[in-house]
Amino acid sequence: MSFKNFPMVSNVIFGRGCFSQLNEIITPKRENELAPFIYLIDDVFENNYNLLSKISLIYDDYIVFISSNEEPKTTQVDALVEDIILNTKSIPSGIIGIGGGTILDLSKAVALMITNSGSSEDYQGWDLIKNRAVYHIGVPTISGTGSEVSRTTVLSGPKMKLGINSDYTTFDQVILDPELTEGVPIDQWFYTGMDCFIHCVESLNGTFINSFSKSYGEMAYSLCKEVFLLELSIEEKQNKLMMASWHGGMSIAYSQVGAAHALSYGLSFVLGIKHGLANCIVFNQLDEFYREEVILFRKILRTHKIKLPDQICKNLSNNDLDKMIDIAMNLEPLWKNALGENWKDTIDKKSLKEIYKKM
Ligand code: NAD
Ligand code: ZN
Repeated sequence: MSFKNFPMVSNVIFGRGCFSQLNEIITPKRENELAPFIYLIDDVFENNYNLLSKISLIYDDYIVFISSNEEPKTTQVDALVEDIILNTKSIPSGIIGIGGGTILDLSKAVALMITNSGSSEDYQGWDLIKNRAVYHIGVPTISGTGSEVSRTTVLSGPKMKLGINSDYTTFDQVILDPELTEGVPIDQWFYTGMDCFIHCVESLNGTFINSFSKSYGEMAYSLCKEVFLLELSIEEKQNKLMMASWHGGMSIAYSQVGAAHALSYGLSFVLGIKHGLANCIVFNQLDEFYREEVILFRKILRTHKIKLPDQICKNLSNNDLDKMIDIAMNLEPLWKNALGENWKDTIDKKSLKEIYKKM
């Protein structure tokens, strides 16, 4: 047996308002005057003076505002990297990603691709990256994905939605400032928060579970229940959900996600539904895998008066359904975690089609 030796974020700062220490953090990391810091920021902050006023651009530093309407694509990463190479006089001192999972993943991928040749699609998979990334910082502005701690960046390529998983993907620095999550719309807060809830359910109920993952998973699960079911102040909710996301990410780092994520990847790839929402749509139909937790999930749905879209697969062509099923079936480690080595005894194309048809 070979034990996983996984990298962690080497520096992390936490606290309401801690984003104002960004300049102090990056100053010693500047390589030279020609090597800029490049900020990739969710365009929802384009007119947010409160956030932008804390960023000091000096020398050749610049900001790129990016829409997160669509999840990151390999072509988008390649175009961003090409622009950076054309527009800078030297390799950047660092990439600073400010936003949700979409922007965090884009920033990780861009930092990797500046120092690795070819297209990002060549590196979708496990441990294909050869060179260390440039210094990269993640600043989450919505909580749940755990992208801030993970060693992957999930990209949609021409053929598949798959992460660039590598020891160099993990951020060098993370800034956890719960105040930055102010203004997240309620439905999005719910979908991304439930991503964390589902990470915990899949990790804790999986066959890969171990004491390391369990300690983080139980903490994150209990924080999620507090945030989504108890009366707490807005500040407490923001603080706790940010830490739940972190712990949920740590939990899956040493175990794996499961059936919900396998099916959700198929849904996102074919229908372009974003990760948090796709997970919720899928999870709502997974009584046979995670019965108790699905009941709790429905209670949380009712509590927050969230109505999930339904019948989205009803009129899909067989071709599209087959594509979804192929993507889901290919995620072997996820099924092994959910059901064990003999997962193929329980799951086949026909049974997956029945589950998709219910969505
Ligand atoms: P997101 O980044 O797509 O953002 C969702 C929406 O919230 C966007 O419209 C965005 O503009 C808005 N938003 C973000 N912060 C805001 C704020 N403070 N105020 C107002 N609006 C705000 O959503 P997400 O759920 O965080 O990320 C989903 C992505 O994360 C997917 O691409 C998924 O594949 C990826 N993901 C990655 C990992 C990983 O380990 N790398 C894990 C899970 C998910
Ligand atoms: Zn997820």
